[in-house]
Amino acid sequence: MIEDASGWQGEPQQQHAPANEQELCSLLQSASAAGTPVTIAGSLTGVNGGAIPDRGWSISMKAFKRLEIQPGKAIVGAGVSLKDLQQAARNSGQFFPPDPTEHWASIGGIIANNASGSRSFYYGSTRRHILSLDVCFMDGSSQTFHRGEPIHFPVPQINIPKTTKHQVGYPLSPGMDWVDLICGSEGTLAVVTGAELSLLPLPETMISGVIFFPNDDKALNAVEAWRKVDGLHMLEYCDANSVDLVRDRFEGIPKLAACVIIEQQGDDPDPWLTRLTESGAYEEASWFALTPNDRERFRQFRHALPEAVNDRVRRNGFQKLGSDYAVPVHRNREMMDYYRRKLHQFPAPSVIFGHIGDAHVHVNLLPESSAHVQLGKQLMLDFARQAVALGGTVGAEHGLGKRKRHLLALQFTADEIQAMREVKTRLDPQWLLGVGNLFETPESSL
Ligand SMILES: Cc1cc2nc3c(=O)[nH]c(=O)nc-3n(C[C@H](O)[C@H](O)[C@H](O)COP(=O)(O)OP(=O)(O)OC[C@H]3O[C@@H](n4cnc5c(N)ncnc54)[C@H](O)[C@@H]3O)c2cc1C
Repeated sequence: MIEDASGWQGEPQQQHAPANEQELCSLLQSASAAGTPVTIAGSLTGVNGGAIPDRGWSISMKAFKRLEIQPGKAIVGAGVSLKDLQQAARNSGQFFPPDPTEHWASIGGIIANNASGSRSFYYGSTRRHILSLDVCFMDGSSQTFHRGEPIHFPVPQINIPKTTKHQVGYPLSPGMDWVDLICGSEGTLAVVTGAELSLLPLPETMISGVIFFPNDDKALNAVEAWRKVDGLHMLEYCDANSVDLVRDRFEGIPKLAACVIIEQQGDDPDPWLTRLTESGAYEEASWFALTPNDRERFRQFRHALPEAVNDRVRRNGFQKLGSDYAVPVHRNREMMDYYRRKLHQFPAPSVIFGHIGDAHVHVNLLPESSAHVQLGKQLMLDFARQAVALGGTVGAEHGLGKRKRHLLALQFTADEIQAMREVKTRLDPQWLLGVGNLFETPESSL
């Protein structure tokens, strides 16, 4: 039995961990010959069941550990963790900019999900930082694709929402890059074995702050006022309910507090004193730092939120219901008001936290009964429809996997989904790779 971070479980018929590309290609060839489905596993930190097989084989990429740091880039195997990449990059005075908050995620998983993180507000998601990709296809062939190498078959232009983040389906566009097609394809088109990723020099000076507010409204007003602050690399939000969830784990959190987390390039914190006063933040109780160690402490604070939610949901014994929707930045406040209005009527606890700089927050419901789960599912669908109605996306960074594949049809037209299915069929004619991710696979469509 294997399980991902969301508790989605599956029982593979066989588990494999190829030592190198040759072994992987030969496994894929055997699976194709036998018509056996194959699901790729990275570090299993995914939250939508994507790495969990419905049937067939599970192939772990944990043995692909190559890690070489050069000026401006890293050559990295799919099984290397983000933590190890960042550590090695830091030793050379560099870093991998998107920095998803889950440090145990594998590079293969990060690429397959086009992951992003708190600094994506400034640096964008993983896709933007890939220089080349090494992949294996289901027929057992392998290939390296460099940035700028176009696909050799026609695809239509699909409608991409005008959000700063979007990770749903394939971003089809005539003449698109192979790298752009495979990155974010959630293990449905090819297996990523390695990549060249761009690294940037570590900023010499950075101001970090965890700024507490007496209520959610004041925090949300500050977000809109600070969005355009020069050199801002991070703008994150945690509502008062989510701060309450981690209160016991950290010292110095004021009562009844929502918070905004910022990072800004520079070394002059004085303008923040004025901003705190103007916005009605708790001036004395807010945390500011200039050192990497404190920055790491703030990162742990932020990361503790999704972990606390997952722990609580597990303890309650019910499925986690979490959103990953984003809207165009100018619709942020509208969407936040919608969430808050509807959550007010929801009978179980809920939290809102996340990447508000990108108008992308995670609404998490913490059901305490089966009735809450049913109501919660309806509410999540309602939120998804509202996000799309505001020009947004039903998936900004986690992908859809199996748990959320029903949302694909909310985002795209039947023709657009058909165009994606045709790309899938071209690269995986028997529909064996990542079965059940993104698309329903009724026998009639195989
Ligand atoms: C507490 C917590 C916080 C998180 N925060 C963030 C965040 O800030 N931003 C974010 O984007 N995500 C976040 N996530 C989600 C998760 O960490 C990411 O989706 C991550 O990219 C998954 O990597 P993984 O190695 O664990 O992949 P897995 O969970 O093992 O797999 C995820 C998907 O990728 C496919 N896959 C994995 N490796 C390969 C490969 N080599 N080739 C092809 N397909 C492959 C799998 O088949 C599956 O569909 C968070 C998760 C947790 C638990």
